Amino acid sequence: MTNKPPQDFKDRIVMVTGAGDGIGRTAAKTLADHGATVILLGRTVSKLESLYDEICQSGAPEPGIVPMDLLTTTEEVINEMAAAIDQQYSRLDGILHNASILGTRIPFASSSLNEWRDVMQVNFIAPVMLTRLLFPLVERSKDASVVFTSSSVGNKPRAYWSAYAVSKYALEGLALLLADELENTSPIRVNIVNPAATRTAMRAAAYPAEDPDTVKTPDELMPLYLYLLGTDHQGEHGELFDPRSWEARDR
Ligand code: NDP
Repeated sequence: MTNKPPQDFKDRIVMVTGAGDGIGRTAAKTLADHGATVILLGRTVSKLESLYDEICQSGAPEPGIVPMDLLTTTEEVINEMAAAIDQQYSRLDGILHNASILGTRIPFASSSLNEWRDVMQVNFIAPVMLTRLLFPLVERSKDASVVFTSSSVGNKPRAYWSAYAVSKYALEGLALLLADELENTSPIRVNIVNPAATRTAMRAAAYPAEDPDTVKTPDELMPLYLYLLGTDHQGEHGELFDPRSWEARDR
């Protein structure tokens, strides 16, 4: 395996959820810079539009925009989106499930059922819905990659991280289930990334006292994201990646 990012994403169609900000925004821009046609899914239209303009001005392939609130979306809405993607691109070569909400860090006994529902919907149920309903498009790719974004508290839920930790734990379960089902029957690769501490709005909300300059930027994650979403992979499947262990593996 090489640490060198794949050189060319030309002709790859990749959806990024939560593309308007943070890691998702950097991932979408980086994929476009490498030649991918990115489908930008997010809830704040102005953020998606400014990224769309940035990508177009850079000379990268024109991205698609999908304004969608994963908290309130329905199967009907996702099916309409799938039909539009089918019409315009006829397949999907990658999905980066990146969007998520942090919720409140709170003792379990004090947590609110409404917040459990919201966090599980955005962080877990929405990726289930998207993956199921986009599956026929992913199956048409010769070399598709589905990446789920977890967290250090997803592998081992930690006190007070409440619904966020459990949603990521469930997401890792979904990724491993899917990876096992597809192992010998499909070329689709399914992997999990734990980005670990990264300088974004979510990190600042989780650790308000932390100096952001002590935390890595989303750009530093991109070699790993390009590796997993591109075609230079070594058949990686059903694995959990974090940037530190991946770099260590590479040297
Ligand atoms: P940010 O909060 O910076 O960005 C999250 C993105 O998800 C935003 O674009 C946001 O949209 C979008 N989003 C949130 N809710 C919805 C919704 N209901 N519908 C559609 N889009 C939505 O988070 P990060 O970039 O930090 O996190 C990216 C991923 O990495 C997440 O899955 C997170 O759990 C994970 N992670 C991050 C770590 C870190 O240190 N940053 C550490 C471990 C894991 P909008 O722009 O409209 O707010």
